[in-house]
Amino acid sequence: MHSDQSYTGSLQTFRHGVHPESYKERSSASPIERMPFVEEYTMHLNQHLGAPSKPIVREGQRVRRGELIAEAGGFVSVALHAPVDGTVVAIDLFSHPNGQMQPAIKIRIDPYSTQRMEVPLPEIPVEQMDYQAFINGVQQAGIVGMGGAAFPAHVKFAIPEGKVCRYLMLNGCECEPFLTCDHRIMVEYADALIDGTRILQHFVQAEKIFIGIEANKPDAIAILREAAGSSGLPIEVAPLQVKYPQGAEKMMITAILGEEVPSGKLPLDVGTMVSNVGTIVAVADYFRRSKPLIERVLTVTGTAVQRAANLLVPIGTPMRQVVEYCGGITVPSPRILLGGPMMGMVQKNLDVPVVKGTSGILILTDKEVQSFDTYSCIRCGRCLDACPLFLNPAKMGLLAKNGLWDELEENNVLDCFECASCSFVCPSGIPLVQSFRVGKSMIREKKARENK
Ligand code: SF4
Ligand code: SF4
Repeated sequence: MHSDQSYTGSLQTFRHGVHPESYKERSSASPIERMPFVEEYTMHLNQHLGAPSKPIVREGQRVRRGELIAEAGGFVSVALHAPVDGTVVAIDLFSHPNGQMQPAIKIRIDPYSTQRMEVPLPEIPVEQMDYQAFINGVQQAGIVGMGGAAFPAHVKFAIPEGKVCRYLMLNGCECEPFLTCDHRIMVEYADALIDGTRILQHFVQAEKIFIGIEANKPDAIAILREAAGSSGLPIEVAPLQVKYPQGAEKMMITAILGEEVPSGKLPLDVGTMVSNVGTIVAVADYFRRSKPLIERVLTVTGTAVQRAANLLVPIGTPMRQVVEYCGGITVPSPRILLGGPMMGMVQKNLDVPVVKGTSGILILTDKEVQSFDTYSCIRCGRCLDACPLFLNPAKMGLLAKNGLWDELEENNVLDCFECASCSFVCPSGIPLVQSFRVGKSMIREKKARENK
């Protein structure tokens, strides 16, 4: 990486990738609305990557909005807080968006609960903290990556010994079709975003801060340029080409710095820390307003929902009530996806709660996501041209189909981050990404058995 390397002003991007239809116009101009409170909230203990949180409340206990209800279960874990004033009515197994029954704390709301913060936490003099206290604070606040992966933010913010953060990158690409919550966050919460950036920059001391935004969000680019200009921080807003998966960390780094993160390495290995814009706003919410992560902005959209919207929703709200707030579903057999259509997770029904990683609820018609017939590979090479990591999906697909897990690993399937670009372009309808998911879990299981 060259020390003087920076964004040059033209629309930069990475190589390969695909251009799916954006479908963002249904919700991109809808201001964020606060979802009204409902009766019950289900707070799953594992709604982040890593160890589940450990409950510190008991059934029958009264809790206040913002009060700690479960503490971090290890370093790669975060705390969990009550999203409303209410009573703990159950600590039991409940349906999780991952398809399993998982432990959760159910809270019944007090009838007159307001959405005002009721737990006055002490002032947090963040600028006087040392780095470790800041990291602990982020973990205590329950903050995870809000782009969908839900990786504990404090782990990402902790710079390992011997590494430096020269570039801080805020990810506002939101390249997944349909989703618009990050777009609205940048437009409406620009001051909090800059404030959160100021807090993080105080600790990481990056030479340069980039805000990467796809060029299809000109209002966000203009607003953040203005806010950044008066911030006194070394921020450059970088409009990036509209291309999927531009918002993947490694792709954004390549687009902005012209530098590729090598296979098996992390952004900090090339001196860069990347964080989603929603995560940075959550940092400002906690350190400036004493508000832990108890609610998030998500997009409800799709052709089969009455009204598309960007909503500020308390974590734990039943998804069925979120969709009902948007007028409900308009077709008899809808297809539900959590997240966008490229990397989103298929959901059987809406009887699960919103978790910290829920960036969107996408409701489509059966016809839009009907499965197509699968044919043999015709060696057209389109998947090779689509893969942003220059993998060979056609070959990997064949190895996965034949259960050749060792060979699949040799072909770097573990680098695949399941962006689905290869599946998207395949004219034979081969479910490539699904076969890589299976292959990766078979390889990991095999490794775990060998390490026992
Ligand atoms: S899903 Fe994996 S193999 Fe397919 S394009 Fe994305 S990174 Fe490449
Ligand atoms: S895109 Fe599909 S048909 Fe074409 S080479 Fe790849 S796997 Fe084969």
